[in-house]
Amino acid sequence: MFDSITGSLKNAINKIRHKDDEAALKKAAAELKKSLLKADVHHKTTKVLVSEVELETKRNGIGQDSFINALRKELTKLLTTEGNQGFVFSNTPPTTILMTGLQGSGKTTTTGKLANYLKIRKKKVLVAACDLQRLAAVEQLKQIAAQIEVDIYFDDNEKDPVKIAVAAQEKAKKELYDVLLIDTAGRLAIDEELMKQLANVKDAVKPDEIFYVADALTGHDATKTATTFKEKIGIDGVILSKYDGDTKGGVALSIAHQVETPLRFIGIGEKMPDLEVFIPDRIVSRLLGLGDIEGLAEKTSAIIDEKKAKEVTKKIKKGEFNFNDFLEQLSMMSKLGSMKSIIGMIPGLSQMAGPIKDMDFENSDEIKRIKALIGSMTPKEREEPSLLNPSRKKRIAVGSGLTEVQVNKILKQFKNASKMAKKLSTKGGMKGLSNMLS
Ligand code: GDP
Repeated sequence: MFDSITGSLKNAINKIRHKDDEAALKKAAAELKKSLLKADVHHKTTKVLVSEVELETKRNGIGQDSFINALRKELTKLLTTEGNQGFVFSNTPPTTILMTGLQGSGKTTTTGKLANYLKIRKKKVLVAACDLQRLAAVEQLKQIAAQIEVDIYFDDNEKDPVKIAVAAQEKAKKELYDVLLIDTAGRLAIDEELMKQLANVKDAVKPDEIFYVADALTGHDATKTATTFKEKIGIDGVILSKYDGDTKGGVALSIAHQVETPLRFIGIGEKMPDLEVFIPDRIVSRLLGLGDIEGLAEKTSAIIDEKKAKEVTKKIKKGEFNFNDFLEQLSMMSKLGSMKSIIGMIPGLSQMAGPIKDMDFENSDEIKRIKALIGSMTPKEREEPSLLNPSRKKRIAVGSGLTEVQVNKILKQFKNASKMAKKLSTKGGMKGLSNMLS
């Protein structure tokens, strides 16, 4: 995700590797400037940042460590603006959030992603479908809500988004929801009518915060429209969507500073888990290729159910790990989001990871085959893999559209993996899955 910036920042850092003179610092500074400009960071911002890094490095004694420290400090400063970080809950629930943005920016998808993020963290979330502008938006939100199993408020007979928002808020209050996310209407470009409608919704529900979803792929325009929204209705946070497709990456570096509003989350893919909280010092660590263990721990602790994890480990130890456990582990892994994003959080791994970086837990052919196979088993067979005799295997092959050879191969892998996991189980349950897939 941050690969290209991280790579070019590394080049700058390497210029000062084993040297500690001014010439090396000059070279490193020149390389840093080039990297930031290439990433589309505004030239004025770049100039200030580079000269600060140079000064700070000199002050602390020229050397690679002091250059990295100065860079870390200045990048963190650049990414930090006054305001909240991550998601902030109101003292009087429901925390009401207005989701705003232009049409196509990813607003509806991001509303779902945020609802999913909160649901995983055990919050009771209601989403409200108030985007009556884009024809399919309500339907899209209904589908997303069903997929992530979050409640939705909509009213197909109501034409006034203000009324829907108010009714949703009443429901959220009465039924003790923790959070209400209101998906509002977008437009292709900013216009007065849109702003008026948003202002009306804002006045009626008095949201705790207004988030603006900006499309990273629109480059500097993302910053411009966010600024206009800030001037016209006031925004408390920016969520940068489609960061996965942004090869330059500079918008994420400069948007907070330029709009004077914190960047709160980034969208890094089309699926529901593909949303990350944006905490400046953690992101800087990742930008510098130093990983983000704190972020990874937060992410996994929200997703992994400790009680279940212990149960699974026990089963593995006894050699009772079955196909249902496997499916459960798989769904847990997919909740963590893309492998790419996880790898970036582990120090040093992103440079080494190679092909597993692109591994997709839901869509790889291997996983699809295993899922098809399990889907054709009876509940009893899933619980007791030892029941699978030749005639059952034949039936499963027909049902799953796999050849008998494929079925046998997968079952053998599963058996070996279970044995291996049993051996390794003293060293932690997660290993079971990675062995199974290898
Ligand atoms: P809206 O009109 O602003 O509500 O836009 P949508 O939520 O319908 O999103 C527009 C398109 O962008 C959809 O195809 C989404 O799947 C896609 N999208 C949204 N967020 C992301 C993201 O973070 N990464 C990628 N790759 N696609 C995204």
